[in-house]
Amino acid sequence: ECLISLRGLGKTYITPTGQVRALDGLDLDIADGEFVSIVGPSGCGKSTLLRMLAGLDPYEEGEMRMQGHPIQGPSRDVGVVFQAANLLPWLTVRQNVELPLRVGGRHANDGPSVDTLLDMTGLGDFGQRYPYELSGGMQQRAGICRALARNPRTLLMDEPFGALDALTRERMNLELQRIWQTNGKTVILITHSIAEAIFLADRVIVMSPRPGRILRDLHVDIPRPRT
Ligand code: ADP
Ligand code: ADP
Repeated sequence: ECLISLRGLGKTYITPTGQVRALDGLDLDIADGEFVSIVGPSGCGKSTLLRMLAGLDPYEEGEMRMQGHPIQGPSRDVGVVFQAANLLPWLTVRQNVELPLRVGGRHANDGPSVDTLLDMTGLGDFGQRYPYELSGGMQQRAGICRALARNPRTLLMDEPFGALDALTRERMNLELQRIWQTNGKTVILITHSIAEAIFLADRVIVMSPRPGRILRDLHVDIPRPRT
C-alpha cells in the first residue's frame, strides 16, 4: 500500500545570483509503515524534499500525494523534527509537547498520552522543567515527543540528531527505532550518516546533487538489531 506518492516533483529557487534547481523530476513511492533514510551530499535537495512533504514549501512542478490526496499544506497526520528542537523557551517541556494538541486537537485513534511519550523518552521527571534546564539530547527528545503528540501516521525528520554527541546520538537511534517498532509509523529520516541510515531503515535513498534526483534506491535486507 502506497502512503506517499511523488511524481515528477521539481523545485527551483530564485536567488539574487540566479536560479537553483533543487529538485528535478523526482519520482518516489513510500509504503505505509516503511522506514526510509535519505542520504546524499550537501545541497542535493534533501531538506527541500522533506519540507515539501511536510507541506511547508509550496511546489509548482509535479505531483505529491499522501493517502491519495494532494499535499497542500501542513497535515495533522504528519510530525516533523528538525535539527534544532525549537522548543518555546517560555513554556515547560510538558507544555511544549502539548502544544500541537492545543492547536489541533487529538486524533480519533489516540496514540500514547503525553505522559507516556515523556516516560518513553526518559523525560518523565522533566515535564515541569524549562528547555534551558535540559541537555541538548533531552531537548531533542522533547522535540520528538512534540512531533508524536498528535499521533501522526508519518514522522519526517531532518538531521534530528546532527547536533548531538556520538553517544547521545546512538541512544537516540535506539529510541527512534523503538518508537517506530512499537507505533507502526512511517518514518522518513534525513541523515549525513550512512551507518545511521542503514542501521535504522528498511530502505536507503541516495540523492544526487546534479540536480536533485534519486541516484540509488536501496532496500536494506539485514536483520534488525533487537532493542
Ligand atoms: P540538502 O538538504 O541536501 O543539503 P537543500 O534542499 O537544503 O539540500 O538545498 C538544495 C539546493 O537548493 C541547494 O543548492 C541550496 O543552496 C538551494 N536552496 C535550498 N533552500 C533554498 C532557499 N530557501 N533559497 C535559495 N536556495 C535554496
Ligand atoms: P542526553 O543528551 O542523551 O540527555 P546527557 O549525557 O546530556 O545525555 O544526559 C544524560 C542524563 O543525565 C539525562 O538523561 C538526564 O537524566 C541527566 N541530565 C542531563 N542533563 C541534565 C539536566 N540539565 N538536568 C537534569 N538532569 C540532566
